Amino acid sequence: MRWKVDAIQGRAIQCRSIQARISQNRSTDFFLLKGIVAMKRIVQKGASGIVWRLLCFCALILQSSLLLGDSSATAHYLANEGVMVVHGDTKVVFDPLFNNDYGRYQLLPENMKQALYSGEAPYNDIDAVFVSHSHQDHFSPLDMLKLMRLRQGIVLYAPAQAVDELKASAPDDAIFKRVTGLQLAYGDKPVVYKANDLIIEAVYIPHSGWPERMLDVQNIAFRITLQNSTTVLHLGDADTKDAHYEGDAEYWNEREIDMAFPPYWYFSSKNGQHVLENRLRPGHAVGIHVPTAMPAKVQDRPEDFRDRDLFTTPGEIRVIDKH
Ligand SMILES: [Zn+2]
Repeated sequence: MRWKVDAIQGRAIQCRSIQARISQNRSTDFFLLKGIVAMKRIVQKGASGIVWRLLCFCALILQSSLLLGDSSATAHYLANEGVMVVHGDTKVVFDPLFNNDYGRYQLLPENMKQALYSGEAPYNDIDAVFVSHSHQDHFSPLDMLKLMRLRQGIVLYAPAQAVDELKASAPDDAIFKRVTGLQLAYGDKPVVYKANDLIIEAVYIPHSGWPERMLDVQNIAFRITLQNSTTVLHLGDADTKDAHYEGDAEYWNEREIDMAFPPYWYFSSKNGQHVLENRLRPGHAVGIHVPTAMPAKVQDRPEDFRDRDLFTTPGEIRVIDKH
């Protein structure tokens, strides 16, 4: 009867994974969670095949209505600072393709990279890609060239430095009709573009290490609004000092951010916490660029990160609540 034991354990594991994903959903109905737990109990007591299939079907319907409902938006973690944000049929991706983990960071799993290239769900019909800066743990020119050639519906917004690297590999490629290079410098006013169902706002925030290091790196913070409804902020490797935000105080006040993706060091730095709480004030913040050494168990993490939300596992999803 080994197969039966395996099957029951398998069902319990499936149920646990559904429960774990739903527990990450901040707008989850408490009763739904109770229902899943009750369902798991029934399974552990040995429900018949048909009952099991029926229960799983109901759970999947409930789960997909939560994750894919018309008014809901979701954030999907790729790796390092790679994030896809979806609202209805509008999809944008930040920092998706890179090849260097510097021995510390999460690389993009090969199957996810291939799914991006082939436009396989959930990475089908991506509208826009944003690159924060041209460091190798955020951007690979050759991989980006390949993506832009394969998926011709994508428009790309990237710092001029990253676009120069793309051009060095293929100066006259037709993809450049869909590429916007941002020639921004420190202190420049934010710029705004509109494309399809997107409001694209970009401002230069110096790379972490300012003013001692990395002064020559164009790091762009993208504030993106999808379908006039969901606003997210991707900070790249932004430095944490308030001075970088102070000059554009009005810009940071004029639009509410539903979800921000700060590099994880914002959570452990006094300056970063100040900027999050007083300048950006997002509805929710999920830390990115998290080293792979960060313990999986929350209680094992350094104190600064225990009550913070971090993206650590490629493929994990957050529902974006309206602010
Ligand atoms: Zn960097």
